[in-house]
Formats: sequence, C-alpha cells, structure tokens
Amino acid sequence: MQKQKHTIVLKGIGVSPGIATGKARLIDHRPATIARRDLSDPALVEQEIRRFIQSLEEARRELDEIRSKLDDTEGIGPLIIDVHSMILGDTGFSQKTIDIIRDQGVNAEWALESTLTRYRDIFKKMEDAYLKERIRDVEAVVQRVHRHLSGVAPEPETDVDEAIIIVAHDLSPADTVQLKVKKVFAFATDVGGRTSHTAIVARSIGIPAVVGLQNITGEVDKDDVIIVDGTSGMVIINPNQETLRRYEEKKRYYFVMEEDFLKNAHLPAVTRDNHSVGVGANIEFIEEIPAAVYYGANGVGLFRTEFFYVNREQPPTEEEHYAHYRVVVEDERIKWATIRTFDLGGDKFVSDPHLADEMNPAMGLRAIRYCLRERDIFEVQLRGILRAGVFGNTGIMIPMISGVEEIREVKNIMEKVKGDLRSEGVPFNENIKLGIMIEVPSAVMMADALAQEVDFFSIGTNDLIQYALAIDRVNEHVGYLYKPCHPAVLRLIKHVVDAGHRAGIKVAMCGEMAGDPFCTILLLGLEIDGLSMTPLAIPRVKRIIREAKLSEAKKLLRQVMKFDRTDEVEAHVREYMNRRFADYCIGGSGAA
Ligand code: PEP
Ligand code: MG
Repeated sequence: MQKQKHTIVLKGIGVSPGIATGKARLIDHRPATIARRDLSDPALVEQEIRRFIQSLEEARRELDEIRSKLDDTEGIGPLIIDVHSMILGDTGFSQKTIDIIRDQGVNAEWALESTLTRYRDIFKKMEDAYLKERIRDVEAVVQRVHRHLSGVAPEPETDVDEAIIIVAHDLSPADTVQLKVKKVFAFATDVGGRTSHTAIVARSIGIPAVVGLQNITGEVDKDDVIIVDGTSGMVIINPNQETLRRYEEKKRYYFVMEEDFLKNAHLPAVTRDNHSVGVGANIEFIEEIPAAVYYGANGVGLFRTEFFYVNREQPPTEEEHYAHYRVVVEDERIKWATIRTFDLGGDKFVSDPHLADEMNPAMGLRAIRYCLRERDIFEVQLRGILRAGVFGNTGIMIPMISGVEEIREVKNIMEKVKGDLRSEGVPFNENIKLGIMIEVPSAVMMADALAQEVDFFSIGTNDLIQYALAIDRVNEHVGYLYKPCHPAVLRLIKHVVDAGHRAGIKVAMCGEMAGDPFCTILLLGLEIDGLSMTPLAIPRVKRIIREAKLSEAKKLLRQVMKFDRTDEVEAHVREYMNRRFADYCIGGSGAA
C-alpha cells in the first residue's frame, strides 16, 4: 500500500524564476573514498598511465556527445561543456596527473585526486565568489574521469517523457547542463546562493531553481510530486490537489507572460512619461553576446574580464585583449560596451600557487589595488581596451575604487598608456569614457569628489551591500541579511545618484539588484540612468519600465524613504508592485 504522503513546504532562495511541477529525482554525488595503490613495477606504471589516458579520451567523447545535443543559443550551458573539454585537454591537468603516477608510482585515481587538491588550493585563494566556485568545474571533470577509470555506468538517465525535478545536495555545472538536455524542469538543492553554479546556469537556461533549502534531500523521496517556485523560493513536496491546481494556473500564466515579455524585449525602456533608461547586459564571455541581444540588451553595461586571466600560466597579451574586446565593441547590435578592468587578486594566476592565503580576500589585494601594484599587467589590459575602443562606443570601468587617490593614479596611468600608444603611432580611442564602480562605502561618501574625476558611475550592489551591511555575499548563514531594500542601501544609492547628477555624469547600476523586478520601480524613482543585468532578466525589467511613469516611481520612493526598517520597505513595495504590476514583479529580493 502506498504510504500516506504529507505535504511539506520549504522556503529557500529563489534564484531562477518560474514555476515547475514534477516528480523528484534525487542525485547523490557523495564522493567515494579513493584508495592509494603503490605500483612497484615500471611496466605497471606505464600501463596505469595508458589507463588514465584512455579514461580521459572516453570522458572527452562523452562531453562531445553532450555538447552536440546543445544549441549554441542555450545560455551558458554549451560554454560550460566547452570549459570542461578545455580542462580535460589542458596539459597542466593531464600532465600533472601523469607525472604523479610516474614519479610516485601510484594509481591513476590517487594521482587524479592529488591534482584536484592542487587546484583546490589555488581556487581557495580567489576572493571573487564567482571565480572561487569555478573549482566546481574542475571537480566535475575529475569526477567524470573517475567514473571512466572505475568503469562505472554512465550518469543516471531520466525518462524524457516525464517532468523531472532534480533534488540534490548541490549540482555541478555539468550536471545542470546535462539535465537540461534531459528535459529537467527545475532544480532544488540543499546548499547554494545567488552566485552558485546552479543559480547561474539555471538563470541562463531559464529553468526555475531554488537553492539553500538546507535539507530537501532528507525530506524528499524518489518520485514524490514537488512544486518548485523559483520566483518566491518556495518548494512544496506532495502538494494537495487544490495547491497543484493553483500552481498549474500560475504556471500557465507565467509562460504566457514570459512570451509576451520576450516579444517586446527589443522595445526601448522608456516610461509612459518619456523617461528613458539604458538597459544593458552583464556578460563574461563574448559568446554571450547573441543571448544579450536576443533578450533585448542595447549595450553591455558590464563586461567582466576576470575569466580571461584564470586557468593560464601568463596573463593575456595585449593582442589577446584587443582581439577579445574588439568583438564586443565592433558588434553593431551592441550600442555601447563598458569593459571592466579585471577584478582579481594576485593569487589568481593559476600558475602561481605560492602566494599567501589572505585572511579576508574580499577586502584584500584585489581589483584596482592589485592593478596599481602590478602596473605592467594593468597597462597591457588598458592598451587592449583603448585600442579596441576605436571600433565603437566604449567605456573603461574600474572596480573597487575606494577614494580619490586611486582614481587619480589610474588616470595618470591612462595618460601614460595613451602617450605610449600615441608615440608608437598605434590607433586608439582618445575619448574613451572612464568610469568607476561604486561598490565600497567610502566611494559612496566621496561620490561628490569622485564624480569630478570620471565620466560615469556604475553601482555594484553585490559588493556594496556586502560591505555596507557587513555581510559576506557568499556565506549562506548570513544570506538572510542580504537585503537590497535595506533603508541604508537605498540611502547609499540615492547619495551616489544625486552626487553623480549634480556633477552632470550618468549613474548606472550593474549589481544583481539592477535585474530584480521587485526593485525596478524603486530604481526608477532613484533616477538611475542605466541598468545592466543578466540577459534573461532584461525583458521583464524593460516591460515594467515601459508600463511605469517616472512620477509614480518617485512617489513610491518618497514613501519608502520614510521607513527605517527593511521589512517596512519591502511590505510597502510588495503591496505596490502586486497592485500595479502583479504579473511582472516575480522573483527577487522582496517578493517572498
Ligand atoms: C557588484 O559588486 O555588484 C558587481 C557587479 O561586481 P561583481 O559581482 O563582479 O563583484
Ligand atoms: Mg563587485
């Protein structure tokens, strides 16, 4: 007899909007223990190396097959598989393992784990949350090779005719991408935050996801029916008929709205009372340009360049920078491109594992601090951007500026670099715009002075909230305190916008808050000039802007600025958005 199923409602972090209903499929990735075997005979060592190489080849074939099933337009999924293929093909990865087998006379599994440990040590030192998480790519590749070494059957298949919701402690990027191929409808995981892999991939391929559910793996049995509401962060296990019906209705509605948003995504973001907002995309790879255009971005408001530096022995050359940025700048569909100089610390070059661990990497030698110390590397990137700037409307954006001295120093370096290019007769954009990210509280307080130094500001709320509210943005235990609608955050933003406007410069925003539909009217009221966000968020945010009036947004802002508690702000905005934009304001910071 079937056991009586109780309804369980869990609340996590909705990281990718939408609603899905389906049967739970649990994925268990707990690593098996790896035993060390000593190989005494040199012939055995050579045989072990051959076994390792064969597993690499099998893993590569498997990845090629997954890749062939993915459409290039499907978010960053194909890219992740490409990255995995690159890791597999990287000689640093394979040769290191072979060296360990040979030098230590050990089995391939053990050697592979040693290689992974080396990578872990390197990635641990990275302060950028996103980059730090990329160790998961290496782990996923290692896991894949392990599977082939052990001759274990391929990864669990799902029945494509069934609506499947994947429940896991956590998911690797490859899991996520493969599951998409297998028609998975949603993800729900015990751990993770907004910058976790699951979140990023789910958003990029448009699958609802809720993370940080703590122990959903302990609550769910295989084939339990579950509802994942990636919008509110709710997961309902074994819902009753009435709940199912309600969610089915919501889901249908959501799909219709999504299509409608997308259809109109290319219309300009102009309010009913003719106030225009620039809407751009945040990208990391030039391969993301088609998606950015597809979702209605007019420009690239934040081109993160960190990826260009990792997983390599040497920093990129000037020619590499130039060629890379030129692709974005030259693309006719992209009306402007803001290229951010790299936001990394000195411990980021994977070839250099000797640099010391920093106690507080988020506040350590990173971004502009590192650039001002390692000028040669910085100058090479500036030269690349300045040269690419010839081909279109380009801005250079400097991260983590904390005061006037830093930006003056940057400007001196810029002048020197321009002088060098001039005397070498190398064409470059003399009038390239220089801007800074406002993401350190001291920069907010100094915004008046900083505005005299640069052409634009872009507010990086991911870091600004972290530093202003003293909340580690990657620590799930304090995630509940990470509130874009905190009155302090709103005041900080207002201070920056007002200072920028007084000085006659534009103020944009490129943190996650910019793409949160819950905050759109508030940001409009704050008179932010541009919003840059993950491409998938663009159609909805644009739609809200087009339906709104600047005057109503200003009124809403005036009302909420009177509150001194986050919950009051959220309640007021929620009530307003539900009344005024019931269909649009889905997901995000205060929608729960
Ligand atoms: C930010 O801090 O808001 C931002 C956009 O930069 P990153 O997320 O790359 O730190
Ligand atoms: Mg930042």
